[in-house]
Amino acid sequence: MSVRVRYAPSPTGLQHIGGVRTALFNYFFAKSSGGKFILRVEDTDRERYSDESLQDLYDTLSWLGIKWDEGPVVGGPYGPYIQSERSDIYRHYAEELVKKGKAYYCYCSQERLEKVREEQIKNKSEYQGYDRHCANLTEEERLEYEKQGIKPVIRLRVPTEGKTTFHDVLMGDITRRNRDISPDPILLKSDGFPTYHLANVIDDHMMGITHIMRAQEWIPSGPLHVLLYEAFGWEVPIYCHLPMVMGKDGQKLSKRHGSTSLRDFREKGYLPEAIINYVTLVGWSLDGSTEFFSKEDLEKCFRLENIHKAPAVFDYKKLDWFNGYYIREKSDEEIAALISPYLEKEGFISPDMNGEEKEKLLRLAHASKERMKVLSDIVPLSSFIFRDQPVEDKATYVAKGSDLEKTITALEKGGDLLISSLKAGVVEKEIEDKLFSLSEELGVKVNGVFQPLRVAITNSTVSLPLFDSISLLGLDETEKRLKRGLSIIRS
Ligand code: GLU
Ligand code: ZN
Repeated sequence: MSVRVRYAPSPTGLQHIGGVRTALFNYFFAKSSGGKFILRVEDTDRERYSDESLQDLYDTLSWLGIKWDEGPVVGGPYGPYIQSERSDIYRHYAEELVKKGKAYYCYCSQERLEKVREEQIKNKSEYQGYDRHCANLTEEERLEYEKQGIKPVIRLRVPTEGKTTFHDVLMGDITRRNRDISPDPILLKSDGFPTYHLANVIDDHMMGITHIMRAQEWIPSGPLHVLLYEAFGWEVPIYCHLPMVMGKDGQKLSKRHGSTSLRDFREKGYLPEAIINYVTLVGWSLDGSTEFFSKEDLEKCFRLENIHKAPAVFDYKKLDWFNGYYIREKSDEEIAALISPYLEKEGFISPDMNGEEKEKLLRLAHASKERMKVLSDIVPLSSFIFRDQPVEDKATYVAKGSDLEKTITALEKGGDLLISSLKAGVVEKEIEDKLFSLSEELGVKVNGVFQPLRVAITNSTVSLPLFDSISLLGLDETEKRLKRGLSIIRS
């Protein structure tokens, strides 16, 4: 059997990181087993649909470098792959179920259904849901409704006896009593649009889907889908519901925990390599110890058997760690290109840089590579170069364990030493040694000397390495800032 899997999102919002994981698992499973990865757009909920969400879906997959073998844009033998373009198919199959007696037309008005519901609540009835009023209409009764021009829905006839079992690769058998399955759910709405259940089952069958990998929140729909497959007389695909994605507190991952939409991660400056690597490890592992996987690795080694059963925790710190790693792996040229949009947005650089500016950007890329967790970190790290905002608060210059008087001496002597040594071409290591000796002379820790220098030069206590900062600023500017710092703390 050749594997065919699908990612079937509904374009009703931005791509969630949990959805991205579902897409990746399906994609890697297809690739590693020589199968096909299909993209299907489940856009039958027209009220919640938005063009922006659909575009976001395409942007997300293309940013990740995930290509679908069949689906919108690329087409394929089982198209169209957008559900709103398949209405005729759903109507045809829903009517076929009616002919077989597995489904029926229901003409109940909204008011009637609401009344039934109210009654059930009032009587604390054990039976909840549709009362199967139209389950056994005679042909005459039906024609009477039709004559009145009432547009019916089509409902599935759910057996009232017996049980339905659906098997999940990870969860095992899940069995429900038929009478606990929602009574006679709507398959086709009166406007001719299918509900999720009908469209999903028909498409998975018609598109030859062999494995259904989707979020665990769809498990409750499982028994109903099995009933639908049985009603059609179709083979049930293999189910594999993926472990939940939780925050550290064990709650379902949400905005409270941090970014959740891929667009957000992207804007903060996570790299696709890091997202792919880390997100695939949320609920999957090869051997429990290997951590680094490229997309190409995963296209080979991803196995269904290695998906975890237990809920998985999304660890933002771990993602940062992977991202830092992939940033350091990049060349200076690549980093320069990646940080440029952030610098441009701040007005720090312009798209038409001259040779000197380009060279400076490369040096900045080199110096900042080790210090960024996400690309947007470049803004606070480098703003001292482009936007000079001196620290006016004297206390910021004073390191722990030092005092203002010592700090003044440190900045004065240290600054002179720095500038004269750099002018004389003394190597960094030696300059550092001299600064260390100065700190001993003053009876302070090394930071007692370095902190005031750093604050005066970079306007911040955290920044790029000191010598990189100086080289990016230039000696004249550095000297000017050292003098200014001194006058601030002396005043
Ligand atoms: N359209 C559903 C969703 O948005 C698909 C669920 C499934 O994969 O069956 O998640
Ligand atoms: Zn009815």
